[in-house]
Amino acid sequence: MTELTGLSLFDVLEGLERRDFSAVEVTEATISAAESAQGALNCFTCIDGERAVGMARSSDARRAAGKSGVLEGAPIAIKDLFAVRGVETTASSNILKGFRPEYESTVTRKLWDAGAIFFGKTSMDEFAMGSSGETAATGPVINPWRARGSEENLTPGGSSSGSAAALAAGVSYGATGTDTGGSIRQPASFTGLVGVKPTYGRCSRRGVVAFASSLDHPGAFGKTVKDAALLTQVMSGHDPEDSTSLPGAAPDMVSAVSRGVKRLRIGIPGEYRMDGMPPGINALWEKGAQWLKEQGAEITEVSLPMTRYALPAYYIIAPAEASSNLARYDGMRFGLRMEGENLTDTYERTRSAGFGNEVQRRILIGAYVLSAGYYDAYYLKALKVRRKILEDFNQVFANVDAILTPTTPGAAFAIGSKKNADPIEMYLNDIFTATANIAGIPAMSVPAGLDPDGLPLGLQVMTRALDEETLFAVGGALETAADFVDKPDIWWG
Ligand code: GLN
Repeated sequence: MTELTGLSLFDVLEGLERRDFSAVEVTEATISAAESAQGALNCFTCIDGERAVGMARSSDARRAAGKSGVLEGAPIAIKDLFAVRGVETTASSNILKGFRPEYESTVTRKLWDAGAIFFGKTSMDEFAMGSSGETAATGPVINPWRARGSEENLTPGGSSSGSAAALAAGVSYGATGTDTGGSIRQPASFTGLVGVKPTYGRCSRRGVVAFASSLDHPGAFGKTVKDAALLTQVMSGHDPEDSTSLPGAAPDMVSAVSRGVKRLRIGIPGEYRMDGMPPGINALWEKGAQWLKEQGAEITEVSLPMTRYALPAYYIIAPAEASSNLARYDGMRFGLRMEGENLTDTYERTRSAGFGNEVQRRILIGAYVLSAGYYDAYYLKALKVRRKILEDFNQVFANVDAILTPTTPGAAFAIGSKKNADPIEMYLNDIFTATANIAGIPAMSVPAGLDPDGLPLGLQVMTRALDEETLFAVGGALETAADFVDKPDIWWG
């Protein structure tokens, strides 16, 4: 990490504006940091120095001509689920190897239109299915954080593993992610970053490889709450090319960060106190509530009784939608094709060779819960539970403005420690995060402190649908009080 790459997004934008350095200098520093981190952290699926420097030159020219966008000259890392025109987009899967989209995702287009620089795509769990980055076709992604005094490699969480690892390692000034059950917030919590999943439909899904369409939320990682607010703001807005895109303009998220929490009512849901959770997490949660109280918020206990059914419902609805979405990868139109004796054989060989084990498991579960005879017992029931979870939130939000919980039931775990165990162990990582996807409400993870081993832990804030302003206000207040300035010791590159 050089002095340049250590800066926040707002700092680098100010430095560019003051002409302390040029976009080309910032971009070159980012590329060299990315290249030196890659060997140890394996966080990129591609680094495109040539394109990046070209974009940086144009950016410097725009600034010189007085035509700067709000992200002018800032390199932003892109999760490999977003289509970037002409750049291989694989969703970290062998089945999409060699797929170069002819179109640009709406979210990345908005970033480039605002002046951001593309320099590389970040690795992830295959098709965004996972919580550790270990299912990526290009091998596990490594967390820059290590437990104090240990050299064991930890996961950065997932599925937006590479985005989190890269940003936490000081490569890039922000990153995109997607969150279907927690894939932005959980890795943010594991790497000491801010991770935001806005309201469903706020950021367009157009050009984002689909996992579970009714749960998929594009969102952002930032080093600070304000950085994450600016990125989310730029990425938001109505898109006629996504039928579930929200109409109307997004609220002013950046100004909301410093708005304060005076007289806001914050709910603490008892159901999120799980047995067997490390004591540090409960202590941090209480501290978080205290911080908000000291800044003028009112804290009340609330109840979300359907929480215990969220994970079972999620692991029916998400695989059901995935099995349908992933039917398109048949060797005919995209990526990998394994020639067989006949059409069916070609399909089977392509899909067996192209999809990893976890993706195959999800397709099997999804096909099962949607099949005649099981549809009512599983899929339909899960949809009813989904409605109940939404009603829980509606009731609670009649009395409070935001909900505060831990983001994850633990800190970053060792590579390999959950991979071959019962898959449910991995699925339990999403226990606090999946509810917000089921309800489509905004949610954010804010770094709040270190556990006894020196690993970062996040607190989660959830608010009413469309109310990103309160989300960022509470996030900003937590950040001010937590004063989380720790960075991982640099052992890579
Ligand atoms: N870990 C969850 C899963 O494996 C969530 C993934 C995500 O949010 N994309 O499905």
